[in-house]
Amino acid sequence: MSTENDVTFADFPLHESIHQSIREVGYERPTPIQAQCIPPALEGKDVIGLAQTGTGKTAAFAIPIIQRLAGRPDLGALVLAPTRELAAQITAMFNELGAASGVRVATIVGGVPMEKDYAALRAWPNVLVATPGRLIDHIESDKISMSEIEILTVDEADRMHDMGFIPQIRMILSVLPAKRQTMMFTATMPDDVERIARKNMRDPVRIQIGIVAPAHRARQELFELAEDDKGRLLLELLGKTKGRVLVFVRTKRGVDRLARRISRRGVDAAAIHGDLDQVYRDKALADFRSGRHRVLVATDIAARGLDVSNIEHVINYDFPHNAEDYVHRIGRTARVDASGLATSFVTRDDRRYVNGVRKLIGDKLPAPIRLESYDASGGDERPKPKGKGQYRSNRRSRRPSSRRRSGSATK
Ligand code: AMP
Repeated sequence: MSTENDVTFADFPLHESIHQSIREVGYERPTPIQAQCIPPALEGKDVIGLAQTGTGKTAAFAIPIIQRLAGRPDLGALVLAPTRELAAQITAMFNELGAASGVRVATIVGGVPMEKDYAALRAWPNVLVATPGRLIDHIESDKISMSEIEILTVDEADRMHDMGFIPQIRMILSVLPAKRQTMMFTATMPDDVERIARKNMRDPVRIQIGIVAPAHRARQELFELAEDDKGRLLLELLGKTKGRVLVFVRTKRGVDRLARRISRRGVDAAAIHGDLDQVYRDKALADFRSGRHRVLVATDIAARGLDVSNIEHVINYDFPHNAEDYVHRIGRTARVDASGLATSFVTRDDRRYVNGVRKLIGDKLPAPIRLESYDASGGDERPKPKGKGQYRSNRRSRRPSSRRRSGSATK
């Protein structure tokens, strides 16, 4: 039994308005990252939170920021997020927990007209939630002054790194006041991120929340099958679920194709990936949240940060090449206190990636079940696993080519 379970929100010295908002959103107890992060953050200490989405990390940094800035007129906090979707979710969290305390938040992200940013900035925000590129546009054109920022939060720093934002982060750090509190949240610690932390943070408190925290609540299953069988199996699985399903596909074109194929079968599906414009992405997400579209087909852009409650089923139509993406993807189901199902389709070529995930999360990853090439018209309950013997005989039938190879090698 972890001691964090003994912590309550009442243990934190917060304004009553914040306690009230926490009650209103329905949080009963702090999650482990909140229990460990909020006290040092309230004292103004630098914090590194090794935690991913689904652990409650957004409130872990939002609550101390709201406490520190409540009733203040100036722009005191900057939160950097890698994607527009994550920025929107962070903004929503600040509004939920901070509006009653008078904390105003503005979102500055690419893909929306600049006029919207100017209007948001004229409303005298206390907290700016921004993606790096658009923020730099405003800094360079002197539209935003960073001189009053006392608290910087870098969320999903490893994602920033993967997306090539490290130079932008360095640029932003160079214009922030040196005397400030810095909080950084990341699921992993790439070298570049570690270097940034070492150079720009003062004696940070490190808090590590197990990388698989959200994943272990999701029931996982892996089906090994031929690429050509994926579509039919997907449609069959969709036919068996009633709730929200998030389907991950590797490429943007693949997302479009699959969403069209699903829709043609009469299941409402929306698509989301980086090439779609922001208005469309927002609408797809809103329709998925509202239940208008039961299925969302996405690239990994949606894997991090996406906070939609009650996703019943995550399906990895394409197995991720990056082991951590697997954890992030399946973390979209089984959020803080829910459970869910994560199904992954695995082709023979994916085996090394499956091994990579196994290295990361160990035995929590079940062995793949090999599937027969099955009849989509059949009304069978669940896809049929292939017996061991049958699989061996398949392998034998492939041998001649390997013999040919080894034969030529000996010549
Ligand atoms: P995050 O990891 O910040 O993306 O949060 C994941 C989800 O957990 C969000 O839907 C939050 O509203 C929810 N959440 C955050 N803190 C708590 C808490 N203390 N109790 C229950 N749910 C929470």
